[in-house]
Amino acid sequence: MANIVVVGAGVSGLTTALLLSRNNDYQVTVIAKHMPGDYDIEYASPWAGANYLPVSDTPNNRWEKKTWPELARLANDNPEAGIHFQNAVVLNRKKDATSTTGQWFNNLLSTDPWFKDVVPDFRVLQTNNLSADIDSVTSFTSVCINTAIYLPYLVGQCLKQGVVFSRTIINHISEAARLHHSGSEADVIVNCTGLHASKLGGVMDTTVTPARGQVVLVRNDPGVMLTISGTDDGDNEVCYIMKRAGGGGTILGGTYQKGNWESQPDPSTALRIMKRSIELCPALTDGKGVEALSVIRHGVGLRPLREQGVRIEKEKIDGVWVVHNYGHGGWGYQGSYGCSEGALELVADVVAIKSRL
Ligand code: FAD
Repeated sequence: MANIVVVGAGVSGLTTALLLSRNNDYQVTVIAKHMPGDYDIEYASPWAGANYLPVSDTPNNRWEKKTWPELARLANDNPEAGIHFQNAVVLNRKKDATSTTGQWFNNLLSTDPWFKDVVPDFRVLQTNNLSADIDSVTSFTSVCINTAIYLPYLVGQCLKQGVVFSRTIINHISEAARLHHSGSEADVIVNCTGLHASKLGGVMDTTVTPARGQVVLVRNDPGVMLTISGTDDGDNEVCYIMKRAGGGGTILGGTYQKGNWESQPDPSTALRIMKRSIELCPALTDGKGVEALSVIRHGVGLRPLREQGVRIEKEKIDGVWVVHNYGHGGWGYQGSYGCSEGALELVADVVAIKSRL
């Protein structure tokens, strides 16, 4: 038996713990400062939309590509996971190509993307009836994940598999080695601390920074999932709309503010988000304007962005093996199964190395 401690209970930690727990040779403990049910600026996962709109380029598409089949399977077979299919429409304005949001969505906006053979129903649509500054439009079948249902669902699946959870804060990654529920030393630690990999002793990855996302959750139904490459309100302001499964309301986004740690929603940003959403999707309020939006809450989450891309690597820190799985930026859900499988391969490598000693 190998003892494994996963640090972090966001979508990365929970998915990794679930996949690990399916191996009968592994005993898994999850330790985390925040757990599903919490809404905290240090915990990105509950704030996500969350949908599947691929953003990686072809050489780095492994994680997102491998995740789609599992999200689609859950949407088809497990309604209790809180994931449903939605028709996604993506609008592109060439003038956004060099903006922060245009760069972020660069691969998503292609009319010939790598994922056209991954998601169902990919099509390039006519732009005839749209405003003059729309240069191309694509659509495909995506999913929207109700994070308030899905994160507890993952915890439930982990518990069923015998995973043990503990609310613990660590200051140094090596401390996790002493926190396995068996009382014995952990063989491997899996580091899924998201943005806090930048502050955690032994890791201190200062290339991880926030990409701040402000959102508004409303009761109104858009009828379709909509995203546009950018807005005229600022380089790092975007407009996306998605209805969550299971009565979760509709997320109106948003912003992509790199290096911004502000935890509180800005009222004028919120107003711009709502106005843009109504302009893009008048059906949200049946043409009655922004006043007819029924707001559930305003929110802010910090996407854990890593300059060089996600870190899925193993290393020995203070004599303890650590497998990293952090730095997913704005695609932590849509890459969750692929990244977790990558982490599992590294855990298996470590277990093999240790068994040879
Ligand atoms: P987190 O969810 O932040 O979890 C980190 C965990 O580590 C927490 O449990 C925390 O308590 C724990 N931890 C950290 N430090 C310590 C410590 N010292 N001791 C103990 N525990 C610790 N992604 C998509 O795929 N699709 C989307 O549509 C999408 N939309 C988004 C919209 C917004 C507004 C935001 C903010 C994000 C969005 N994302 C989306 C991105 C996605 O939410 C993140 O990539 C993902 O949630 C990161 O998950 P994580 O588990 O790595 O980190």
